[in-house]
Amino acid sequence: ASANIGVVGLAVMGSNLARNLASREGNTVAIFNRSYEKTRTLLDEHPEAEFVPASTYEEFAASLSKPRTAIIMVKAGRPTDAVIDSLIEVFEPGDIIVDGGNAYFPDTIRREKAVRETGINFVGAGISGGEEGALRGPSIMPGGSDESWVTLGPILKSIAAVAEGEPCVTHVGHDGAGHFVKMVHNGIEYADMQLIAEAYDLIRRATGKTPAEIAEIFAEWNRGELESYLIEITAEVLRQVDAETGKPLVDIILDQAGAKGTGAWTVQTALSLGVPVSGIAEATFARSLSSHPEQRAVAAHLPGPDATGVVDDPDAFIEDVRLALYASKIVAYSQGFDEIRAGAAEYDWNIDLGAISKIWRGGCIIRAQFLNRIADAYAETPDLPVLMSAPYFAEAFTRSQEAWRRVVTAAANAGIPAPAFSSSLSYYDGIRADRLPAALVQGQRDFFGAHTYKRIDKEGTFHTLWSGDRTEIEAVDTH
Ligand code: NDP
Repeated sequence: ASANIGVVGLAVMGSNLARNLASREGNTVAIFNRSYEKTRTLLDEHPEAEFVPASTYEEFAASLSKPRTAIIMVKAGRPTDAVIDSLIEVFEPGDIIVDGGNAYFPDTIRREKAVRETGINFVGAGISGGEEGALRGPSIMPGGSDESWVTLGPILKSIAAVAEGEPCVTHVGHDGAGHFVKMVHNGIEYADMQLIAEAYDLIRRATGKTPAEIAEIFAEWNRGELESYLIEITAEVLRQVDAETGKPLVDIILDQAGAKGTGAWTVQTALSLGVPVSGIAEATFARSLSSHPEQRAVAAHLPGPDATGVVDDPDAFIEDVRLALYASKIVAYSQGFDEIRAGAAEYDWNIDLGAISKIWRGGCIIRAQFLNRIADAYAETPDLPVLMSAPYFAEAFTRSQEAWRRVVTAAANAGIPAPAFSSSLSYYDGIRADRLPAALVQGQRDFFGAHTYKRIDKEGTFHTLWSGDRTEIEAVDTH
């Protein structure tokens, strides 16, 4: 037994993670893959790394010092269950099995419960940053027990990305908390990407700027408060010229966005928790809309305005779009953190929201300077009910809300779809409203279903006798 950590599953993510682990002082890494071929390839291609290869689960277990700790990086779903079952056979109580794949958090809750009965610890860990992150330092969101964190914490800290001197990993909470937070991270990523795409589309169609010119605008934005990995890569993508046609690559790429499902999970979960993550939902739906060419073809003749001429001062409009993007981004993150807050309450996880914003500052796709502002907001008020109500963000809205309205108006007038921009603005106006038409909805519900309502001026539950003499009676609340 000479290895302190093992990796099961040596496809691209697992082999990069194993190399990352092996490159850090103090780690000796046991490696195992279902078919030995991938193990051999890793050994051949990276003789510099000191791996302890195993060809059976028994050998793998024997090569690990106790408590044995193994990270599974295999296809999510059934393969993960198969590997867990095999590890349980050869591991002992006190050992730790970590699932680093993209598991759906209810599966993680189920697995943790089942594995715990054997006395073995099970940790679902969200790992963000793709192949490059796995190799150079990802952002890691582990759940699981406090006991496993004692052993696992130092190992994960050794391989995580570092942001402002701090490793991008924290013990998120028990059982499925890590995979839950990773799921919401991906949902926020969807919203952030969609907002950037809308900003590009608005500038291009309303001002006629070329992709190369817009690339320079994004590069400029990346030097200010919007500084982020996603803005940076957007400039790179827009700058790219297709070698075959000589056209901007963005004009050659088929405009149908794919998805692997984590955005949909985030929205489905938010719906069941009753949390309005409208920015993430619009971003997910925008991908769905794009990928139905048959529907787009039959709807293409529907009337709409001409986008040209809607903007008379392009530079002013571009600055408005920048401000609208920033404001909408604050809403998207505020909604995402609201979902984490609600998830923590529902599943009884003690999640430090400020710590989450900090571990997203490095290694992951949504890394951005902006996350420091979120950390500041939670440092000031740890139980902040609405993130975007914090003083820093309120000030940002003071600077941006008029521009935001001009951009959403221009989008509507020009017939340019901006679902994430406009739904974020609606959320903003909804959450800050003094009175909402929800009062009327309650009246309607009481009319057709006797669902009752409460009054602003006295305690109790009431019902109006709509089909009778329309007097009000005090009712027993049945809902
Ligand atoms: P894949 O998802 O392509 O999975 C391939 C690996 O799974 C191989 O090692 C394969 O072994 C193993 N495997 C498949 N079925 C079984 C089984 N029944 N029993 C044992 N092993 C099995 O690999 P990736 O490296 O792309 O991804 C690994 C995990 O990381 C996934 O959960 C994925 O969702 C996640 N991921 C995360 C990313 C991120 O940015 N965080 C990016 C990409 C992936 P064999 O060689 O024998 O076939």
